[in-house]
Amino acid sequence: MSSAIPLNVGIARSAGTGTIDAEGAKRVLLAEPRGYCAGVDRAVETVEKALEKHGAPLYVRKEIVHNRHVVETLRERGVIFVDETDEVPEGAVLVFSAHGVSPAVHEAAATRNLHTIDATCPLVTKVHQEAKRFARDDFDILLIGHEGHEEVEGTAGEAPDHVQLVDGPDAVDRVRVRDENKVIWLSQTTLSVDETMETVQRLRERFPSLQDPPSDDICYATQNRQVAVKAMAPECDLVIVVGSRNSSNSVRLVEVALNAGARAAHLVDYAREVDPAWLDGVRTVGITSGASVPEILVRGVLDMLAEHGFGDVQSVTTANETLVFALPRELRAARS
Ligand code: SF4
Repeated sequence: MSSAIPLNVGIARSAGTGTIDAEGAKRVLLAEPRGYCAGVDRAVETVEKALEKHGAPLYVRKEIVHNRHVVETLRERGVIFVDETDEVPEGAVLVFSAHGVSPAVHEAAATRNLHTIDATCPLVTKVHQEAKRFARDDFDILLIGHEGHEEVEGTAGEAPDHVQLVDGPDAVDRVRVRDENKVIWLSQTTLSVDETMETVQRLRERFPSLQDPPSDDICYATQNRQVAVKAMAPECDLVIVVGSRNSSNSVRLVEVALNAGARAAHLVDYAREVDPAWLDGVRTVGITSGASVPEILVRGVLDMLAEHGFGDVQSVTTANETLVFALPRELRAARS
C-alpha cells in the first residue's frame, strides 16, 4: 500500500479538447485527486459485502459515509440506518460507519448480542489509538475538531476524562489544562489543514510545550483534495464541489477554494442543484468532489456543464493515490 501526501506540488495537466487558454473560451478544470478515498471505498464495500453475506435488512449505525446518494442507494437495497444500537433488534447484524465509534457504543452493541462489523476507517482508528496511548500517559489531549461530528464523538469517547474538544481558533481561550508540560493536540481527520494550523499556533502560544501528534491526523485524502483545489482555485471564476452538507471534508473544500482565490464556490449533491445563473459571465469552472462522493455524481455535473458550453475539460493533477485498505476480516474472502 502506498499513498502520496504531496504538499506544495506543481500542477500536472492533461489536455482536454480545444484550446483552453483562448480568449473567451469556456473551460472546466477538474481536480485530481477527488472523490472516493480508501476509507470510504472500504466502508461502502463492507456494507455491500455484508448485504451479500447476511441479506437484508442490514443495520448500519449512522450514515456509513456522509453522502446522500450513497445512503439512499444502500437504503433501497435493504440497509436500515439507525442512530443508536438500541434501535437494532437483538442478535441482528450491525455495521459501524467509517467515522468510528467509542468503546461505549461497542459495549452497548455487545449487551444486545449484536453481530457487529466495524467499517471504521483505519486512519480514524489510528487517531483512537493515539488518544488511548496519551490518555494512558496522563496527558491532556486537545482534540481539534467540529463539535457534534461523529468522528470526534468516537475519538473523544476513547478517553473522555483526558480529551477536550477545540472547535477552531476561537475556542483556544477556553481551554484549561492540568499540567502545561503534558499537553498534546490531535485532530479530526477531515479538517482544513490551514485552519487547523492556525488553531495549533494559537494553542502553542498558550502552551509552548504543546506536543504534536506522532503523525498527521488530517488524512492523506483530505490533504490531497485540498492541495488540488488550491492549485486550481486561483484560475477559477467558480468552483463546484460535489458533496453533501454533512460531509466535513466536502464543506472544507468550498472554504479552501474561496480562500485560495476562487471568485465563487458552491457545494452540490447533484447536477440538478447547479443553478445556471452561477455560470453567467464565467469562463473557468473548477470541479472537485469530497472523499465520500461517487464519480457518477461528478460525471453528472460535467454533463450539465457541457450542455452550457463547458465541454472543454482539463485535469489539474497534484497527486496520484494508490492506497487500498483491506476489508474487515470476516468479509475478506468476499472481496477476493
Ligand atoms: S476521509 Fe480520510 S479518514 Fe475519512 S474515510 Fe477517507 S481516508 Fe479515512
